[in-house]
Parts: sequence; C-alpha cells; structure tokens
Amino acid sequence: ASDASTARVIAATIRPDVQALARYAVADGTQAIKLDAMESPYSLPDDIQAAVARAVGKVALNRYPSADPRPVKDAVRTAFDIPAGADIMLGNGSDELISLAIQSTCVPGDVVMSPWPSFVMYEAFARLNHATFAGVPLTADLQIDVPAMVEAMARLRPKIVFLAVPNNPTGLMWSADAIRTVVEAAPGLVVIDEAYHAFARSTSMDLVLSHPNVVIVRTVSKIGLAGMRLGYLAGAPAWVDQLDKLRPPYNLNVLTQAAIVAVLEHKPVLDAHAAQICADRDALIASLAALPGVTSYPSAANFVLANFSSVAAQPGNAARIYDDLKARGILVRNVGPMHPLLAECLRISIGTPDDNAALLAALNDILPTIR
Ligand code: PMP
Repeated sequence: ASDASTARVIAATIRPDVQALARYAVADGTQAIKLDAMESPYSLPDDIQAAVARAVGKVALNRYPSADPRPVKDAVRTAFDIPAGADIMLGNGSDELISLAIQSTCVPGDVVMSPWPSFVMYEAFARLNHATFAGVPLTADLQIDVPAMVEAMARLRPKIVFLAVPNNPTGLMWSADAIRTVVEAAPGLVVIDEAYHAFARSTSMDLVLSHPNVVIVRTVSKIGLAGMRLGYLAGAPAWVDQLDKLRPPYNLNVLTQAAIVAVLEHKPVLDAHAAQICADRDALIASLAALPGVTSYPSAANFVLANFSSVAAQPGNAARIYDDLKARGILVRNVGPMHPLLAECLRISIGTPDDNAALLAALNDILPTIR
C-alpha cells in the first residue's frame, strides 16, 4: 500500500489522543555512564547469575505460565515482609499495576490525583483511560502540600490518589503524618507507590491493614532487577480480588517467574547493593552541594535531584550541563521540561563510586564554563 493510503486509514482509525502522543523516549545508553533511569549499577554476582540460568533452564516453554504463581508470591512475601493479612498481586512491572488500578477504578471523567510533579505514568495512564488527571503542585521546596491535597480531594473527589513515597523525580520522602492525613481525607483508593522503598528508612505497609482504602505498589526494578519486569501490589484481600480481575491472565512470563524465585534466595546481596547505593547517594548529595551554585535536595531514593539555577543568571544552565555531560559519555536526566518547579534541575541516578566520581569530575570541569 502507498504511504499516503496507510496514513489515511491510520488518521481515521487510531485514537486522536494516541496520534497526538509522543512515543516514550529512552535515550540510547550504550557505552555511557548511565545515570538516567534509576537502575542499579550492579549486576548480579556470577554465582547468582548461574543459579538463575539453572532455574530458567528447567522451565517448560511450551506451556503458558501459571496464572497464579504461588512460588513467586511466597518468595515476594518473604523477601519484602508483606504482612500475613495482605494479599499480593503481581504485575509486568509496577507500571502495569498502576495502569490496572486506574482501569479498575475510573470510568471516563473520573479524577486521578497525585502531588505534582511526580511519576509521569500516573498522568499518562489516567489520560489513556479517559480519566481526568489532577496534579496538586508541590510547595516551592518540593514538599507535598497537604492542605492543598486535602482541599483538592474534597473538591474533585478523586477515585484514586497516587502517592509516590519517596517521590520521583525529586527523591523527597513524605512524612508519615502527611501520608496518613491524605489517606484519611481521600474519598477513594490511595495507591502508595514505594518503588524506591529499598533506599528509604520507612514504609507505609502498616496502612494496608489499618486503613480501608490503601494499597502499596512496589517494584524490583530499582534494586538490581530492572530487566526482570516484576512489580507487586500488597493490599487487603478484598482489594486484590477486585484489582486482579482486569489483569491479563498470563502477564508474568515463565522466565521471570523462575528467575525471581532463584534471585530472591539471595536477597542479602540485593540489600548490600542498596546499602552501598544509599551511602554513595549521601556522599554525592554532599559533594554536589559543595559545588558553587549547585543546590541538591535530600533524597530517600537511588537518585538525587540537583538544581543548577544559581550557576549562572540566564536560563538554560541545566540543558547545557546535560549536553556537556552527554558529550563526555555521562547520561543523566534533564527534568526541567517536566514542570516549572524543576526548572534548571537534573535528576542523577546513583552509580558505582567510580561513576559518581566521574560525574563530579565532569561537573567540576563544566560548571566554570557556564556563565
Ligand atoms: N513508580 C515510580 C515512582 C517509578 O519511578 C517507576 C519507574 N520509573 C515505576 C513506578 C515503574 O517501575 P517498573 O514498571 O519498572 O516496575
């Protein structure tokens, strides 16, 4: 068929809002020091990698995966301290669980709410489900604005509220009081997204049992298993019964099912990597703050947000620094275009000590050239 005739059918067929979407862009990270996507810089040790290979090698590829993989749920429950009173639902990444939670709660026109800026997929999935997304701006110092959240929830009656704790792309943690106030004022479901919980000192897991409207979503992506594509949701059994209805029956492939069970037998290795990353994060925050004109925010995640607005008076510092870092093979994330509160901010994932040292050395070279 001619390109023009294909384009005509597409224009008449694909949803207009999908046609208007930009594809999810992922920068090419080959050969770079990759500090843009909150991955762990640590691959698994050879012996664990070999154990995974043995487990995966025994899998029956001719059969569909188990639709209710008990061994995976048991391994997740043990490894991540899911309380006995909660049920577990598994997702092909926590992205899938976020999408399913919106699909299960919202009919067209219903409201999805979150402090903002936060994880972009809350808004994207809301819009694709014809829900209205309401982002409640963070305060100038990037804290959750609890009174504004309470007011907005009373006015807009969101079916579902997402709280990323700690927040992406800022790294800040919300206090237990703030979380509880939002949960108790919410008219519907509150999904507490603890994607970065391994790098934070506290969890809201107890709210799953104490409050009627809370589920927790987490992922293994940030603790060294981003390639696995596994997220989990912990909630009261009655919530999981409902949310699980829309889950595609074979959403977790057999390879992931076999591999995660094998890896989680070695959970202390993942914990040691997370502890290393936390120590390196705290060191990097201090080093960044010592650079002239740079402000770094506190972080309870495996990345830090750095603000370059005082490096030079004119706008565009962060974009130039981003480009210069990239030219030196260091990939970070320029989050400035996301939201005015993030203007002149770069989000930097924690790498190995060598990666972080290379970043600091590069910034030391680049900053004096920005004026
Ligand atoms: N929630 C938050 C807050 C995130 O930052 C991310 C990853 N960027 C996810 C969920 C999705 O993680 P995954 O789909 O890899 O489990």
